Amino acid sequence: MKLVKKQNNLELIIEEKLLKEIGNIGIKHCPNEFGGFLIGKYSNEFKTLHIEDFILPKKYKGFPYCFERSIDDIVYIFKKLFRQKNQYYIGEWHTHPNGSTMYSQTDLNAMIQTVECETVRIKNPILLILSVSSQKLKDYTFYFYNNKKLISYE
Ligand SMILES: [Zn+2]
Repeated sequence: MKLVKKQNNLELIIEEKLLKEIGNIGIKHCPNEFGGFLIGKYSNEFKTLHIEDFILPKKYKGFPYCFERSIDDIVYIFKKLFRQKNQYYIGEWHTHPNGSTMYSQTDLNAMIQTVECETVRIKNPILLILSVSSQKLKDYTFYFYNNKKLISYE
């Protein structure tokens, strides 16, 4: 089943199964925070975003970081995904164990850094925050980054 999230004239689409898969990884790492990258495609003149996959970093250091400095392989992986499947790096996801899905100032700063990062040229990355316990995925929120602000999808 596909989940559709809206924010003004923007649309985000993700398979429920994929979201559950991400949630389960988060649950396993609870009470530690964990995260990774979101992969997908745009359509409808960049107004519709299809989240199709995710990547787990080899090392999770938390955010913020710039791809160039900290993760050597990831840029290579992104390039390969684009060549083979026409998929892009579209954003980040991470968990808030036993917390809310509200982003922190650190989260916002990390997104600002990502956009300013020379290696991944992305203007409007997505941030997915999952609230997890050691038992289940409690809640989740998708945010759209634009001009140093994070706006949540409905
Ligand atoms: Zn956070």
